[in-house]
Order: sequence, then C-alpha cells, then structure tokens
Amino acid sequence: MIVVPPSTEILSHLDEQSIPVRIEGCGRLCYKSEDKITAESAPDFIKTILKHGHNSVAEMAVVSLEVMVEKESIAAKLYAVLPKYLTIDTLDKNVLLITASMRGFRELYMDHGNLKIVKAMTGYLLQHHRLFFADITPERGIVSQAGVMVRKLYLSELLELPPFITARHRFVAVKLTVNRAVTHEMVRHRPCSFLQESQRYCRYGTEKFGNQVTFIKPMFYAEDSAEYKIWTKAMEDTEALYLKLLETSSPQAARTVLPNSCKTELIVFCSLIQWAHIFKLRATKGADPSMREVMIPLFKEFRERYPKVYGELDLDLT
Ligand SMILES: Cc1cc2nc3c(=O)[nH]c(=O)nc-3n(C[C@H](O)[C@H](O)[C@H](O)COP(=O)(O)OP(=O)(O)OC[C@H]3O[C@@H](n4cnc5c(N)ncnc54)[C@H](O)[C@@H]3O)c2cc1C
Repeated sequence: MIVVPPSTEILSHLDEQSIPVRIEGCGRLCYKSEDKITAESAPDFIKTILKHGHNSVAEMAVVSLEVMVEKESIAAKLYAVLPKYLTIDTLDKNVLLITASMRGFRELYMDHGNLKIVKAMTGYLLQHHRLFFADITPERGIVSQAGVMVRKLYLSELLELPPFITARHRFVAVKLTVNRAVTHEMVRHRPCSFLQESQRYCRYGTEKFGNQVTFIKPMFYAEDSAEYKIWTKAMEDTEALYLKLLETSSPQAARTVLPNSCKTELIVFCSLIQWAHIFKLRATKGADPSMREVMIPLFKEFRERYPKVYGELDLDLT
C-alpha cells in the first residue's frame, strides 16, 4: 500500500486554457485518464461526456457576460423565470453581469430559449463556444437579437469590479487530494461544482495505480504510536481484501470494502464568496481536524492571492 499526506492545488493554470481544454483537464480526473489528453482530444471527450449525460463536467468552466438591454422589461423576463444556476448583478442601468457555467447556459437555453435575452446570450456563446451549443440550437444558428448587446468579460476585468461583485463572479477551482471522509464533507457545499476520482472506474489493482491502494496519512496519530500501527494493519488487511475481490469482481463491487482513509481526488469549483463560506465553516475550530489540515493553508493562500476579497476576512485559525 501507499500512504501519502493530504494536499491541495489551486488550478490557476486552467484559467489560461481554452474552455474545452479546461473541461477535459478536469473531467479526466474522474477516470484518472489524464494520460489520454492530447492536443486534439478535448472536443471528442466533451461530445462523449455530454452524450452520456455526465453533465457536471460541463460545470467546470464559467463565462461572465456583460449584457446591455435597451429596455428593463427584457431583463425582467429573465428574473421572472428565477434562473437557479446563474449569478446576476447589475453593473449600471440596463447593464447586467451574468456568470454561469457552460452547463448553466446550455440548460438555460433548453428551458427558456424563447426569451430574447437568453437567445442573445446563447447566440454569442454559439459563435465563440460552438462545441457546447451546436447540438441544442437551430442548424442555422441564432440571429442577433435587437435591443440586446452581449460581450464577454475577461478575468482581468472581473478583478477590477467592486470587491463584492468580484467575489460573486470570480470562480476558482481547487484540486484536493484527501481521504474520502473529507471529500464527503466537502460535497455538502451545495453551490459548488464537483468532480471526483471514481472508485467505480479506477482499478487500483493495475499497474497504472502501482497494483495497490493509496491511503491518506491520518493526522490524528504519530507514526511511532500504537494507534498508527493499528491503522496501518487495518489498511493492509483492507487492501488485501480489495485486491482479492478484484480477482473475480469489478472495481465497483470490490470498492465496497474500501475505508474512509482511501486517497481520492476532488475538484471543487465555486466563486470566491462561496470559498469564503467554506473557509468560515471548514478552517475554524468546530471543523474536522483532517479538514482543517488542508483548509487552513488553503485559506492563507487564497488570502494572499485575492487580498481585495479576503483582506477583511479574519478567521480564528487557532
Ligand atoms: C462543524 C460542522 C459539523 C457538521 N456536522 C454535521 C452532521 O453531524 N451531520 C450532517 O448531516 N451535516 C453536518 N455538517 C454539514 C452542515 O450541516 C452543512 O451541510 C455543510 O456545512 C454545508 O454548509 P451550508 O449548509 O452552510 O451551506 P452550503 O451548502 O455551502 O451553501 C451555501 C449557502 O447557500 C444557501 N443554501 C444552499 N442550499 C440551500 C437550501 N437548500 N436552502 C436554503 N439555503 C441554501 C445557504 O445560504 C448556505 O449558507 C456539519 C458541518 C460543520 C461545519
């Protein structure tokens, strides 16, 4: 067996990639098939994912649109449908800032494609991100909508906006390499998008995984303690049972013996304001110590990177 410490990585390098490359980069974590990424692989990966209904992968990239409407009534019709997965703010009279994931915009069009403002946004997205919209829009595309102007806001522009608006619209992805108990707690944060390494697909008894199971070192026990010896023995026994079951059954069946200590990877993607909520709950005193072990250093990193949003956030990290 392999024992590793928990870790986190802010996936800022993905912010510089095209949307398909970003989404493939995140999506392949589920199958641990990152080795299959090539310069051309993203479009086919995305088409397959959408076809199979693994739609949460399309949540891993957001776009912020500045939408200028001639009349307030055009925007009012969007508010009236109470769009759930859009973040909307008013930048100026009749100027909206709308942020959503590729999935959010896709499903908005599928549910409310009759609205002028939705048609205008989808028309813009179809032009720039055809891969995500061609299958749900008319063959000849969507003609531009009189009275609505749409343009994309770049990340650098988002950071120039007032702190509260930046916090709501700037989304950040973090990869956590932690145990399954910690990921189970993380996925309770409903406004986030998640992708997780799948124990149904990953077969740890193969060469790719070193023919063994990887566990996260528990922070509760010193390595020379009696408790650590008990833990080690339990993991060795579990691994042996898992590998034995794999001889005659599938990973999804064999995984039923795997414990909380099993290493897993999870991408958490949400706005800076949601991250602040997570840090308030998960880096402070009442939280699970294994969660605090990763959340405290992560919070400090966020504070350094986004001082405008996090400068005032003073948490008790003792
Ligand atoms: C110390 C600690 C102990 C815990 N113990 C347990 C436990 O014993 N058992 C257990 O089951 N869970 C437990 N939890 C999980 C906890 O109950 C929450 O599910 C989790 O922390 C998610 O946080 P949240 O509900 O504040 O908001 P999130 O899901 O992160 O949502 C963010 C915000 O969105 C809003 N929101 C999202 N969805 C809704 C909704 N459906 N209705 C209204 N508002 C919504 C709220 O304003 C919320 O603050 C614990 C959490 C902590 C930090």
